[in-house]
Amino acid sequence: MTDPTELAERVREGDLRLHELEEHADPDAATAARRELLESETDADLDAIGSYGFEAERADPNVENMIGAAQVPVGIAGPVEINADEGDAPNGAAAGEFYLPIATTEGALVASINRGCSTINAAGGATARVTKSGMTRAPVFRVGDVAEAAALVEWVRENEERLAERAETTTSHGELLGVTPYVVGDSVFLRFRYDTKDAMGMNMATIATGEAAELVEEETSASLVALSGNLCTDKKPAAVNAVEGRGRSVTADVSLPRELVEDRLHTTPEAMAEINTRKNHVGSAKAGSLGFNAHVANAVAGMFLATGQDAAQVVEGSNAITTAEVRGAELYVSVSIASLEVGTVGGGTKLPTQAEALDLLGVRGGGDPPGANADALAECIAVCALAGELSLLAALGSRHLSSAHADLGR
Ligand code: NAP
Repeated sequence: MTDPTELAERVREGDLRLHELEEHADPDAATAARRELLESETDADLDAIGSYGFEAERADPNVENMIGAAQVPVGIAGPVEINADEGDAPNGAAAGEFYLPIATTEGALVASINRGCSTINAAGGATARVTKSGMTRAPVFRVGDVAEAAALVEWVRENEERLAERAETTTSHGELLGVTPYVVGDSVFLRFRYDTKDAMGMNMATIATGEAAELVEEETSASLVALSGNLCTDKKPAAVNAVEGRGRSVTADVSLPRELVEDRLHTTPEAMAEINTRKNHVGSAKAGSLGFNAHVANAVAGMFLATGQDAAQVVEGSNAITTAEVRGAELYVSVSIASLEVGTVGGGTKLPTQAEALDLLGVRGGGDPPGANADALAECIAVCALAGELSLLAALGSRHLSSAHADLGR
């Protein structure tokens, strides 16, 4: 192993640049050299960042200029029963008892979700289903005028099969499901939607769309301006995702007997339903929110970080609607996440702690049939969100929210 001190010195002298270190040393030495350089140039002590539990080489596809790892504590909620009575869930996805790994720094969050899980179990388990699936990429093309825009839309309608053929030359798993055109003056956006199986699919969809865009340029007068035209929409709050879905659209529900709500959650079905209406629906509407829920992003972020998902896509994962309704002697609660972008292959899922968390859920790698593992992960996250919603609505109903935070997390 090359001496990190020597490497750091060469960077200081201008002989090497920070991002060139892996060309001269193994990845761990390069990482140590960067820390040494930074420590000498700042007052920071980087021992904790440098105490990571895997070989730096394993993170090579995931990060540049690595100096170590941010360690976020992981807690466990559950087990929680998902689709337990359904035998083989129709899409071959989640069925059974699941421990939910949650990476967070928010004290009280895991305890709260755990309380929701035990309430769900006492009610016989939650049901969860992926109802729509498709990763999108929407390039923007320039055309001469509106007549040319209309001609392009027509061409796309007549050539979807050829676009699919061309796009799918770049992937053995991805399938083009459809192309939706949007015209704004002399800009035409083509929103490509793919079945990406167990991959979250953003790289896959981008590469495939790049190929399809070449066919558009070869055969029409349109010029590609940008491969992503923001109508995709990735990592930004956008109504198109909340309405049309992106990644997985997934719903989870549960019916809680009245006694369970009263004995375990110390509130009533009526109180929880009213809080849900006035807070999650009326309050969110008044705020102009895209998410009509209490804190679905907490479950999404916690499980995204634990399982190696793209953290920035928590933005889309917060597009969720929670419903709560008194049905005779029961409280019916559901959570529908419109755009949950998850994968069990690719991206950050191969990193060691993230892969272990996927193992814990039994969904690491490619599913059988392909796509089943990512569906199951989406369903687990939806049930985690449902547990979180139940617990928070109950805490508000019993006026326990501030005391629980004071006791557990501050
Ligand atoms: P990826 O790591 O680029 O690719 C995953 C690949 O795994 C697939 O393309 C597929 O290869 C292969 N694969 C093997 N078994 C599979 C299975 N059962 N199902 C599906 N694919 C399988 O991952 P990605 O999901 O496409 O993209 C995720 C990454 O994109 C993340 O790192 C994310 O941060 C990043 N990202 C990229 C962009 C962008 O614009 N490029 C934007 C946001 C995020 P084949 O295609 O050859 O079949």
